[in-house]
Amino acid sequence: QNAPREAFGPRQVRGAMFTWVMPEGREPHPEVLAVSEDAMRTLGLKPGEEKREDFKHLMAGNLLVDGIIPWATVYGDWMNYSGQWAGQLGDGRAISLFECTNPKTGQRYEVQLKGAGITPYSRYADGKAVLRSSIREFVVSEALHTLGIPTTRALALTLLPSREAVRERVEPCAIVTRFAPTWIRIGSFDLFRWRGDRQNLRRLADYVIDECFGGEKNLVSPRPEEVNLTGVDYINRYHRLYREVVRRNARTVAKWQCFGFMNGVLNTDNTHIMGLSLDFGPFSFMDNFDPQFTPNHDDFMKRYSYHNQPTVIWWNLVRLAEDLAELFGSGDLCDTQEFIEKPLSRPEMEKLVPRAEAQIELAGEEYKAVFKAEYISTFCARLGLQAPRDEDLDQIISPTLYLLLTLELDFNGFFRKLSHIPVLSLDTKEKWFAASEVFLQAGERYAGKGWKGAQEMVAEWLGGVYRTRLQLEERDNVGFGDEERRDKMLRVNPKFVARNWVLQEVIDLVEKKKDREVLPGLMKMVLDPFRESWGWNEELERRWCEDPPKPERGLQCSCSS
Ligand code: AMP
Ligand code: MG
Ligand code: MG
Repeated sequence: QNAPREAFGPRQVRGAMFTWVMPEGREPHPEVLAVSEDAMRTLGLKPGEEKREDFKHLMAGNLLVDGIIPWATVYGDWMNYSGQWAGQLGDGRAISLFECTNPKTGQRYEVQLKGAGITPYSRYADGKAVLRSSIREFVVSEALHTLGIPTTRALALTLLPSREAVRERVEPCAIVTRFAPTWIRIGSFDLFRWRGDRQNLRRLADYVIDECFGGEKNLVSPRPEEVNLTGVDYINRYHRLYREVVRRNARTVAKWQCFGFMNGVLNTDNTHIMGLSLDFGPFSFMDNFDPQFTPNHDDFMKRYSYHNQPTVIWWNLVRLAEDLAELFGSGDLCDTQEFIEKPLSRPEMEKLVPRAEAQIELAGEEYKAVFKAEYISTFCARLGLQAPRDEDLDQIISPTLYLLLTLELDFNGFFRKLSHIPVLSLDTKEKWFAASEVFLQAGERYAGKGWKGAQEMVAEWLGGVYRTRLQLEERDNVGFGDEERRDKMLRVNPKFVARNWVLQEVIDLVEKKKDREVLPGLMKMVLDPFRESWGWNEELERRWCEDPPKPERGLQCSCSS
C-alpha cells in the first residue's frame, strides 16, 4: 500500500540520462533489404561492405562492437496544444550501438538500431518495429536528406524473419539503422526540468553546447536589440544555445512547408535539439495542396496539419525556453558555485523572470524572421527566382499557393512541371493558355471550376503573376533566362517524391510478394530524385512520378508502428 505509485508502472530512471542495454539479437537469418549508398559514404563505409556477414549481424543487433556497450536514453514529452505532460518516455525501442567519426568531415555520428528490443523505457510496449513502418522511416530519412532538409539519417533496413509483432494484424519485424550527430531532443530537457533535476539539466545543456554544436564559438551571437533589452551580462551561453536551437528549427520547419512535408506527430520528444527532422511515423508529403491536411489518422484536432506545423514547433520551443529559463535568465551568475549548487530563492527567481521573458520574446521574433527568410528563399528557388524579396511572400508565393489550393493541384508535381516551361518566351495569351494545359488532366473537373475555368486560372497566374515577376528580375539584370532557369529549377524540384501511396505499394511488394528488387530500385530514385529517369524499371518509374491517382491522394496513416 505504501509502495510508490511508480512501483506499479514502468521503471522510473532518475538522476541519469541513459541506461546500458543489450539489443535482443539472436536473429538467426537477418536479411539486409536495403542500404543507402549516400549514408554509407557519410559514415565512411565502402560500397559492397553491406554484403559482409558482420555488417548484417551488426545491423540485426546480433553483434556488438568490441568494447562498446550499447545504451538507451531517457526523455520526456509534452504533447502540444492539449498541453499534456506524458511523463517519462525514452528510447523504447531504439538502442545506440556506438559513435563514429567520418575522417574526412570530422563529423561524429551516433549509430542506433530502431526495433532492436525492449529497453527500460519501453513502458508497456514490445520494443519492436514492424516492416511496414521501418520501410517508411528508412526511405523518408534519406528522401528528406536529398531534398536538402535537415534530418536524421538511415543507413540500412534489415528484416528479422524470425520475429513478428501484433499491430493492425500480425506483422513481420525489421530494424532501421539510423544515425545523427545526436539524438537529444527537446523532450530530453523537459524531463529533467519536470523532475527539478537542475544538475543534469545543466550538464545536458553543456553537453549539447560542447559536443553537439562544437563549443560556444559556434552558437549565434546576440543581436544589438537583445543587448539593449537584457544587458550584455545576461547573454550567457545558455541563451545563445537556445537561440541556436530556435534558429535551426525555424529553418527546418520552413523547408518542410516548402516541400509539403508533414511529420504527423510533433510533440517535444520528436523535436530535435539540432533542428533535424526526427521520428517518422505517420508522416506524409503533400499530394494536392490542402493546408488543413494532417497525415496522422488519429489527429482529429488537426494539430499536426500542414499549416499548424510552424506554430507547433514554436510551442515546443517555448517548452524548451521554460526548461532553460533559469539558466539563461541567470546571466553571468550561471557559473558561480552558489548558483550551481543551490536552487535560487523566490526573490532571486523573481528577479530573473522579466529578463528571461524578454529573451524568449526576442527569440520568438527571431523564429519568425528566420522562418520567413528561409521560407521565401526556398520557395523562390523552387520558382526559379534568383533574388528573393520580402514582397514575394504576398506577390508570388501566396498567389501560387492559392492557385494550388483552388484547383487542388499536386504540390510537388506543380513545381516540376513548371520547371520545364519557358515562361519568358510565352509572349501571347494563346501561348499562356497552351502552356497551362500541362498542369491539368483532360476531362477532369477542378474543384467545381470545370476544365476551361481551371485553364484560365492557370494561364492568368502563369502569364500574369509569374511572368511579370520573372520579367522584373530580367529588367533588374538578376534573372535567369528560360534555359538556365529550367536547369536550376530541375535541381531543386524533384521529379520523384516519396509519397504515401508509393510507399504503400513498395510495402506490399516487399511484404506480400517478397520482392527484393523494388527497394534498391526505389533508393536509386530517392537518392537522386531530380533526374528524368533511373534506368531500372520504366513502368514503375513513370507511374510513381505521375500525379497520384485520385483515390490514392491524401492517404493518412495510423500511429501504430
Ligand atoms: P512516438 O509517438 O513515436 O514519438 O513514440 C513515443 C514513445 O513510445 C517513444 O518513447 C518510443 O520509444 C515509444 N515506443 C513507441 N513504440 C514502441 C514499441 N513498439 N516498443 C517500445 N517503445 C515504443
Ligand atoms: Mg518519438
Ligand atoms: Mg515514433
